[in-house]
Amino acid sequence: MLEDLRETLEGVGDLSWQDGANCTGANADLFFPERGASTRAAKAICRECGVRAACLEFAITTGEKFGIWGGMSERERRRVRRERQVAAVRKVS
Ligand code: SF4
Repeated sequence: MLEDLRETLEGVGDLSWQDGANCTGANADLFFPERGASTRAAKAICRECGVRAACLEFAITTGEKFGIWGGMSERERRRVRRERQVAAVRKVS
């Protein structure tokens, strides 16, 4: 899946973690399902991935809006971003 995106992602920092991606060669449609379609197969691949944490962090910090990254859907990543924002505000105040 990620090899399809390398060109798009150039210039966003160190992407060497992608070399360990468990989704290399997987069907990209699994990771970018139609609305309402199952994400189970993609998440199962992510669970076995050695670079899951780096992938998830990349998607969260770049605000990736689509697809399964690091085993999380866009909605799940949005929740993590919100929690981080709340934690950052609490830390400052
Ligand atoms: S965590 Fe999932 S989407 Fe990310 S590189 Fe691994 S298999 Fe691919």
